[in-house]
Amino acid sequence: MSDTLVPYDDAVDRYDPVFGIEVHVELGTRTKMFDGAEQYFGADPNTQITPVSLGLPGALPAVNGTAVEYAIRIGLALNCGIAESCRFARKNYFYPDVPKNFQTSQYDEPIAHDGWVDVELEDGAVFRVEIERAHMEEDAGKNTHVGGAAGRIQGATYSLVDYNRAGVPLVEIVTKPVTGAGERAPELARAYVQTLRDMFRALGVSEARMERGNVRADVNVSLRPSSDSPLGTRTETKNVNSFRSVERAVRYEISRQAALLDAGQPVVQETRHWHEDTGHTTSGRIKSDAEDYRYFPEPDLVPIVPDRAWVEEIRAHLPELPAARRRRLQADWGYADAEMRDVVNAGAVELIEATVEAGAGPAAARKWWMGELARTAKEQGVDLEVLPVTPRQIGALQRLVDSGRLTDKLARQVLEGVLAGEGEPEEVVVARGLEVVSDDGPLLAAIDQALAAQPDVVAKIQGGNLGPVGAIIGAVMKATRGQADAARVRELVLERVQS
Ligand code: MN
Repeated sequence: MSDTLVPYDDAVDRYDPVFGIEVHVELGTRTKMFDGAEQYFGADPNTQITPVSLGLPGALPAVNGTAVEYAIRIGLALNCGIAESCRFARKNYFYPDVPKNFQTSQYDEPIAHDGWVDVELEDGAVFRVEIERAHMEEDAGKNTHVGGAAGRIQGATYSLVDYNRAGVPLVEIVTKPVTGAGERAPELARAYVQTLRDMFRALGVSEARMERGNVRADVNVSLRPSSDSPLGTRTETKNVNSFRSVERAVRYEISRQAALLDAGQPVVQETRHWHEDTGHTTSGRIKSDAEDYRYFPEPDLVPIVPDRAWVEEIRAHLPELPAARRRRLQADWGYADAEMRDVVNAGAVELIEATVEAGAGPAAARKWWMGELARTAKEQGVDLEVLPVTPRQIGALQRLVDSGRLTDKLARQVLEGVLAGEGEPEEVVVARGLEVVSDDGPLLAAIDQALAAQPDVVAKIQGGNLGPVGAIIGAVMKATRGQADAARVRELVLERVQS
């Protein structure tokens, strides 16, 4: 079944898109949310479990204090209020990856509420996204369907359940409806999730690796005729797990819902599945209302009452957040706004920071990463950070230029060698014989040869016309395969001719 779609530009001409995002982040605690089972990536299935993870009769949960601290960190970084008291609730549903038949979550009393975060788009425009709440909960296990196409349950011959992930601490962050972005809604949705990912890493609460599912987004989209109309009916596209997919999913839903509304058909409130391969969403289940989950307070856990002094201590020790860090680095490095934005968009902030630490000046570090290396990465279709060269090596390379041992041109050849796996910059210089010839002996020999070959030029220079000196320098550079210092060659040529 394929949906009727309205071209995106037409859709946002006729309708005002509104979106909301629920982001789940897995916390990088050593143990799970309510028991002592360890949780690290890559363990064999069903080896990180306890009676609590499995929901065995009589097993009792206990709250992970570090997870609470991480949740408070996230709440504070999002400018939320931290609840004086909050509690857990049972969200009841039956699914094989939830062994207790309920998820321990928070319902009417989240640990953090009413915040905001400023989100910068690629061109520097800033939108403020309001946060409704951030609450603590636990992850579910993982079902694997075997025998069908693309890992789907349809057509599978059997299914496996891994409970290692059951009980891993999660924080779920829910935005208020995000309005006012207009045609930039998909872009803002993506940048918001990216902003949160960077924040989680800076806060040290999660590795936040999208490809491992540490960060997962559910995307709500609705349309309304204009910005002063009431909100339209929304759909919720579940588990959109890359930045690019967040943008594509919002875009797709806008085009799909516009076609329904154009045809006078209602948008059905439902969850939808995201299909990475086709870039489409398809209907899931009719959206459950909260009543369907029969939430009730978790009787096995006491309320959490974060000590105010503790909350203030956490606030005082929050690490520098990405936006502040960027401002600081931009000032330190003396980059223009547009230069810094390019560096951020290229994902080169950390690389340049480490290159500067390795002894390169900020301008040189930027020149390497945003020039030669950005071109190489683009050619190979990879991210800068996976190129086989380290910031330390770029720092060493630039120090060779700064000390006069390499010209820029020679340095580019050395870099080529480093990228080709020929070793450290110093080793490539030696192996390829690329060092600037600083000894006057070989230079003078090359100069005398060049002068002898061009007696007319010598006569002109002796007559006071310095224009043709360049021709001699060029010949010397050629003879030394570019390894001469052109300024020194010029000095020597003039000395030679005028003596
Ligand atoms: Mn959730």
